[in-house]
Amino acid sequence: MGDVLRIDRIRCDGYGMCAELLPEHIALDDWGYPIFRSGPIPHRLVPLARRAVEVCPVLALSLVRERAHPSSDH
Ligand code: SF4
Repeated sequence: MGDVLRIDRIRCDGYGMCAELLPEHIALDDWGYPIFRSGPIPHRLVPLARRAVEVCPVLALSLVRERAHPSSDH
């Protein structure tokens, strides 16, 4: 369980600001669109991930809590 970044790829315009803030977790492809590392964001990087969500000019990012076993909470 941990926090993961989600992206709305329809909204993303590839400005790359998120990757500048969080280069440990986000790379850019050849067209400037973000590629996330797989897995949860390391705890120490969560504040920067929140900042990346805030600065995205088109509000394409969100930080969500991922559950290891989504079906186990019934
Ligand atoms: S800051 Fe937003 S628009 Fe820019 S690359 Fe990241 S997700 Fe896309």
